[in-house]
Amino acid sequence: MIVLLDRDFSPEHLANPETIDLRNITKKTWPIVIEKCRAINTRLYNIKLETLEGIQHLKSTQQLTLEWATKISDLSPIFEMYQLTHLNISDFPKAPSICGISKLTNIEQLTLGGSSTLGKPLHLVTIEELAKLPNLNTLYIFNTKLENDDISILAECKNLKKLTISNQFEKKQYAYLAKKLNIQLQTPIVAAKQASSTCGKCGQKKYMLTGRKMPFLCSDCDKKKFEKLTNDFHEMIDKA
Ligand SMILES: [Zn+2]
Repeated sequence: MIVLLDRDFSPEHLANPETIDLRNITKKTWPIVIEKCRAINTRLYNIKLETLEGIQHLKSTQQLTLEWATKISDLSPIFEMYQLTHLNISDFPKAPSICGISKLTNIEQLTLGGSSTLGKPLHLVTIEELAKLPNLNTLYIFNTKLENDDISILAECKNLKKLTISNQFEKKQYAYLAKKLNIQLQTPIVAAKQASSTCGKCGQKKYMLTGRKMPFLCSDCDKKKFEKLTNDFHEMIDKA
């Protein structure tokens, strides 16, 4: 159920549904959300608040999606929601840190990202703490920049089965993760992935080569370059 909190709504409507999508959350309506919402699956969209303080009182919520909050700079109240199994934090351009996320030991699925429409990225200091989430099996990272520019720590996520990271990191790091994690991943990390764009010459689907600043190539028309770059990746895996 979708509730637009900047229009007239009945607070009692927040109490019943197991899945709720609350939009346009302001300082005025936030106390009502905290008091009334009993959903298991909660999405908060367009969060106009300056602080998420109080969110930890949403004790029924096990699956939490938070999208589009331009003023929030502190995520720590979320990391007191120990019951969470699924967490999605997207489009928080001011949030600098996920420090404390390792307290969410029940987390199985995690999404971290910037604007999905290629707007502002999520800027984080590091994702080191993700290696301390013992039940993490699905991780999706998109439009994210890390101060330490390091994703290699993910090799320590022992239960990870599904990993998707957008192409914003050094090729070497993807090769390292491929070496360490491919044995446990349902879809392995590969040198090139089919893209949706097509080749201007032959009409076949192009490939996106793995790694920051890598090109999109046609495996036939750009054969030489395609083979060189995919071989480079396989050599990096061997040496990792
Ligand atoms: Zn072609």
